[in-house]
Amino acid sequence: MSTPVQVDDVRYAIDGIPLLHGVSLTAPAGRLTGVLGPNGAGKSTLLRLIAGLTRPVGGQILLGDHDLHRLPRRLRARRVAYLEQQSTTEQPLLVRQVVELGRIPHLGRWQPPGPADRAAVLDALVAVGMIEYAERRWSTLSGGEQQRVQLARALAQQPEVLILDEPTNHLDLAAQLMIMAQVADLGRTGIAAVHDLNLAATFCDWLVLLDHGRVVAAGPPETVLTPELIGSTYGVRVQLLDRPDSDRPVLVFDRDQEFSLGSTSAPKTA
Ligand code: ADP
Ligand code: MG
Repeated sequence: MSTPVQVDDVRYAIDGIPLLHGVSLTAPAGRLTGVLGPNGAGKSTLLRLIAGLTRPVGGQILLGDHDLHRLPRRLRARRVAYLEQQSTTEQPLLVRQVVELGRIPHLGRWQPPGPADRAAVLDALVAVGMIEYAERRWSTLSGGEQQRVQLARALAQQPEVLILDEPTNHLDLAAQLMIMAQVADLGRTGIAAVHDLNLAATFCDWLVLLDHGRVVAAGPPETVLTPELIGSTYGVRVQLLDRPDSDRPVLVFDRDQEFSLGSTSAPKTA
């Protein structure tokens, strides 16, 4: 089952400092939406709101027809999975046990995991190519392996909506491509903050470009990844190349840049 996510005029502030100024976007059902923008643009802040971890100070987020923040916590946890930018756990868990955490929203209070839960855990580990690590301690894995296990935890949750904050951080090229393809082909609604614009162009069906806590563009990749928009938000010069095999854009970066650090500074207050 897949469900669209609609973010409607969402505002968010910490200690009176506005971080999101009326963000609206629609993440189409069953598709992968990429959230782009320079450091500090508000991507993680937005994803934590969509995951239900924090509440907006204004506006609302709809999961299908339901206000996400009005859903009971447990029901929301069944429907929305969140992979944070930097996952850590203090507990000495095995890889399999980390992935089993994804089943908690589906289990009763004292109910142990059953066959369906174990199958979901194994399927998720296979999907991310980590099945042979199932009995290893999570803490002994490399950063990239840990990231893949955390993705398996989110997949084992079998959510309608998967929220991923820079899921390809720390991964080598093959793992980046594998994870992005995996998420794009799930048939679930995915919303991912992505730093690599060419990965976004290759795998995302819809892009939302944030800057200083506002949406500056949204649409299919070819409408968002333009030299003008990338230039004005990231403050870099890029060129667009034509791909012979697809309509999806490819960006290349000029070696000589005139950096204007203004575009990566703290958000303007408004
Ligand atoms: P991104 O993920 O796009 O890099 P974030 O959503 O993490 O951006 O942050 C957006 C802005 O909010 C940044 O300027 C950041 O410094 C600020 N910010 C995030 N969390 C806090 C906080 N707890 N207190 C104050 N400012 C914060
Ligand atoms: Mg972030």
